Amino acid sequence: MEQAQRIQKLPPYLFARIEQKVAEAKEKGIDVISLGIGDPDQPTPAHIIEALKTAADDASNHQYPSSVGMIDYRTSVTDFYKRRFDVDLDPKTEVVTLIGSKEGIANISYCYINPGDINLIPDPGYPVYGIGTLLAGGDPYLMPLMEENSYLPDLTKIPDEVADKAKLMFINYPNNPTGATATLEFYEEVVAFAKKHDLIVCSDAAYTEVTFDGYVAPSFLQVEGAKDVGIEFFSLSKPFNMTGWRIAAAVGRQDVVEALGRIKSNIDSGAFQAVQLAAKAGLDGSYSVIEETQRIYSERMDVCVAGLRELGWKLEKPQASFYIWVKVPNGYTSAEFAEYVLEKAGVIITPGNGYGQYGEGYFRISLCIGKERITEALKRMKDAIGTIEL
Ligand SMILES: *Cc1c(COP(=O)(O)O)cnc(C)c1O
Repeated sequence: MEQAQRIQKLPPYLFARIEQKVAEAKEKGIDVISLGIGDPDQPTPAHIIEALKTAADDASNHQYPSSVGMIDYRTSVTDFYKRRFDVDLDPKTEVVTLIGSKEGIANISYCYINPGDINLIPDPGYPVYGIGTLLAGGDPYLMPLMEENSYLPDLTKIPDEVADKAKLMFINYPNNPTGATATLEFYEEVVAFAKKHDLIVCSDAAYTEVTFDGYVAPSFLQVEGAKDVGIEFFSLSKPFNMTGWRIAAAVGRQDVVEALGRIKSNIDSGAFQAVQLAAKAGLDGSYSVIEETQRIYSERMDVCVAGLRELGWKLEKPQASFYIWVKVPNGYTSAEFAEYVLEKAGVIITPGNGYGQYGEGYFRISLCIGKERITEALKRMKDAIGTIEL
């Protein structure tokens, strides 16, 4: 049986070759260090696990949940947004619970895309923006994120006819994979652009709570008029080390939140209530839990940035995320350099082209591994490749 065109249209899985190499290296008994995965290694805080246990014992949580989520959880989300960002949201109409933000990011295109419609997609970027667009029958229009523009999309370069035709615009700051951050001035520009071209903005806020050295990341919704043009995807995955739990929320513009809820009610039946109540405990609890996680990543960043500088790279410590985005040495493609580092040093880095065509020429380091292992990885890279010619 031939598979549907929507499956056939999906881009090839670019990490397959690296994964095969990793499997081969492990078979040979090589101790591979992964600076590849963007999945927190620290445990979920104990009070969240306790709340899950209590909620799991309660039989009233064993039935189908509401597909848009429990009002108690949604209220914790809006309280968090008020405390953290001073953003006012109505928990009844401006929040929908998600089974991880990936789910909402993929489903939002089904709400607005007819075949042949356009979404504006940052490149390099989290692959789900483009994949959700393709699955819904739409066409991604790429917004290059270039180093010379601080990895922000240059909105003036998007042709009017494209912007007028486009339905959704995805943005993601603090950014995966570049670690770049955005200012409120940039968000103001985005709001004006969205109003002018009648676009819905989808702000992916997965890393607003992964910040260092006094930097505080803004929410897109802090800007005046943002709630008229868009929504934000907020996830507990990164701030609370909860990637496995699958819990997040979409907040903001009412008709967009409603549309997402309508799609969800026809596809899934919502998140397990015990998980929502555990997430509520995290959101209602002390912010110091998040600060402890920030401290750990900041320390790893310091170690890694210092190590890369010693190898010859010139780079600044990112203010947020747990990623470092680095140029490959002259004469290598992203894939060639990633393979070279794996073969010579037993270290996995992610080739930048895995995040889109404008990621070519870069690689991403992820710091979801202890600082001793990061130190060891950098030492091995130094022994294997010496100092880099840039
Ligand atoms: C990790 C991540 C997410 C969060 O995904 P969940 O489905 O909420 O676990 C969203 N966007 C980006 C860019 C990410 O890196």
